[in-house]
Amino acid sequence: MNIMPIVATTQAAVLRDRSGAFVIEDVQLPELGPGDILVRIAAAGMCHSDLVVRDAGGEPVRPTIFGHEGSGIVEETGSAVTRVRPGDHVVLSYDWCGWCEACLRGRQSYCAEFLDRNSTGFGLPGARLATDGHGQEIGSRWFAQSSFAQHAIATERNAVVVEPGLPLELLGPLGCGLQTGAGAVLNVLRPRVDESIVIFGTGALGLAAIMAARASGAGMIVAVDIHPARRELALELGADAAYDGKDPDVAAILAGRHGGMHLAMDTTGRSAAVTIAIASLRVGGQLALFGAAPLDLHLAPIDLLGRSLRYIIEGEAVPQLFIPLLVRLWQQGRFPFDKLVRRYPFADINDAERDSLDGRTVKPVLVMP
Ligand SMILES: [Zn+2]
Ligand SMILES: [Zn+2]
Repeated sequence: MNIMPIVATTQAAVLRDRSGAFVIEDVQLPELGPGDILVRIAAAGMCHSDLVVRDAGGEPVRPTIFGHEGSGIVEETGSAVTRVRPGDHVVLSYDWCGWCEACLRGRQSYCAEFLDRNSTGFGLPGARLATDGHGQEIGSRWFAQSSFAQHAIATERNAVVVEPGLPLELLGPLGCGLQTGAGAVLNVLRPRVDESIVIFGTGALGLAAIMAARASGAGMIVAVDIHPARRELALELGADAAYDGKDPDVAAILAGRHGGMHLAMDTTGRSAAVTIAIASLRVGGQLALFGAAPLDLHLAPIDLLGRSLRYIIEGEAVPQLFIPLLVRLWQQGRFPFDKLVRRYPFADINDAERDSLDGRTVKPVLVMP
């Protein structure tokens, strides 16, 4: 049974043009489906995926509300919701179906419906969508939340209930970017105390990986980035060494001085960095890849001697298990992600985007009025 939400209209940042600004508008919320929840958003982190639509080129973007690192308070629940209640504090993450083979095996980030449920903004066929002042439907199912808004409709599945005493405004980024970086280390690469790991690119994802590598006791953690300030931050957050990504000798240093790395992550999505990352691995090493841009790699099969490459989504994390773990590590001082966050009033969303692209801010968080 669908029900009308108790809040009929809300303010949301709508993107209508690939090269245009986010514009905050009044939008009409749709009915709540049986599994849906209405969340008053406290804050929403800005993740790189919220901005990639701008690079996609081609056809015009359909008007969409982005935002997929929301945190807030549940105001209302659909008729079939049993696990989340009004008043619960929640961190919103990605959505999955629950019934495909990947989901049944506890590998939700590889859900067969991942793309439709998360990264079109319009959800599965027949999804109920918000409408603008002209009655036109707008994408409001981005990662089943579209949380660049004062209210968002999420689902029971992609909401993680957290303790009410926690600083809700800070927690949104745990739902995607930080989960992705930390999950790649803690769930997939799992560095041992006698192993080394190099992280190319120290944005939010890379820095989360460095903190997680430190928390996991990795033997040697190396950061590579072209920005001196980011290298400083990487050292502060747990890297043992940091190198300039523009230095042509990086691969030789990693393969020579460090004897080749056991594990590597490329968070830059750049072909040149991936090539260096592969060259820096020792035999048997593993490289984790992220990002959606096509790579232009020129490899001989022997370059992959005993080595493996893997593309990882959402750190292979199950949000209901992983986000509480990150909160615990943060409380213990082992995952100080608050150092990456800079808060912006919601109205300054375009400044937040600019600062994120310039590299001035690692993780912008938009705080709702
Ligand atoms: Zn699934
Ligand atoms: Zn994201």
